[in-house]
Amino acid sequence: MSSQALDQFLNSSIEELKTKGLYNVIDTLQGANGPVIRIDGRSLINLSSNNYLGLATDHRLIEASIKAAQTYGAGAGAVRTINGTMDLHVELEEKLARFKKTEAIIVYQSGFNCNMAAISAVMDQHDAILSDELNHASIIDGCRLSRAKVIRFKHSDMNDLRQQAKEAKESGQYRKIMVITDGVFSMDGDIAKLPEIVNIAEEFDLITYVDDAHGSGVLGAGAGTVKHFELSDRIDFQIGTLSKAIGVVGGYVAGKKQLIEWLKLRSRPFLFSTSLPPAVIASCSASVDILMNDQELIEKLWENGNHLKNGLSLLGYDVGQSETPITPCIIGDEVTTQQFSKRLYEEGVYAKAILFPTVPKGTGRIRNMPTAAHTREMLDQVISVYENVGKEMKLI
Ligand code: PMP
Repeated sequence: MSSQALDQFLNSSIEELKTKGLYNVIDTLQGANGPVIRIDGRSLINLSSNNYLGLATDHRLIEASIKAAQTYGAGAGAVRTINGTMDLHVELEEKLARFKKTEAIIVYQSGFNCNMAAISAVMDQHDAILSDELNHASIIDGCRLSRAKVIRFKHSDMNDLRQQAKEAKESGQYRKIMVITDGVFSMDGDIAKLPEIVNIAEEFDLITYVDDAHGSGVLGAGAGTVKHFELSDRIDFQIGTLSKAIGVVGGYVAGKKQLIEWLKLRSRPFLFSTSLPPAVIASCSASVDILMNDQELIEKLWENGNHLKNGLSLLGYDVGQSETPITPCIIGDEVTTQQFSKRLYEEGVYAKAILFPTVPKGTGRIRNMPTAAHTREMLDQVISVYENVGKEMKLI
């Protein structure tokens, strides 16, 4: 018999989500996650993935993963510190370090894990963390895990950051102070003001930490937001995912040799969780090779992003202040946004509604994620559906 307390908790919590319209139904994809997906036997143009460069279905990655599985087996077998590390993992880390132009890299099982691992390995209850209020959930959880005092600053507000940094420093209460920001904010597509952040950090001796999940493979010729601003020497931590532009799964932390050495000695997901399987590592490696040798996919991604943004904007939609290919279409009211997304779906466009509490109340939006794999015809079809549905619903 299961616990009554658990049953009561689950029943009331799930009911509450349903009442608040926050109950999420997960669609089942019948096949690969490419620019076109199949759900319930229907083909839809997919604008909901983070597969920025289309590499998730690239044959070069698939071939590399098959070859690695045949040579090295299906699983890595153990934690790297206990059973040794495969040469594949070391090669990927060295390659990524050359690509990011940092001294060293450590690969984790996911981007989420990177934030759980890296923040808590260097920060503790004697420290403070200045965190942008719109930072990703994994940063928030990583901060909590560290037990450091978390001080949120207003989104990309440099006056607020400077003031909070000054107060924290002058209080004399903290041994170390860190500033953490996303490189690219995934709901709006805006870029963190890293040059200003670095100046403030240097003024108050802050440790700098950038989670570049959405900038890697997109900005700075693929090397990310830090490279985009040419700030590699002035940022302590750079986090990247292998799950978005790289197209597979996993995450990494880039930084100075001694920092990475410390993370290999002390970060818990590295010490206590099995490393990624050979097929994954090999396909990530193939993906980084592509990025290092060919800018075409990145150019295509930006071209597609600009085309979609211009198209929706010309129709009269509010596409926000995005500085990257991420293309929000801000509708406002939550119920209307959901209805709009449903109508897009019925017309063959898969673009999810993003609602409160993920974004502020009254700024419900459809978040469109164009990729390098979309054709011009697909995007024109999307724009035409937006036109028809928008007119039908009197939104434009
Ligand atoms: N950081 C940010 C900023 C993200 O957007 C995400 C993914 N949504 C992650 C970390 C987690 O990455 P992963 O999916 O590789 O675990």
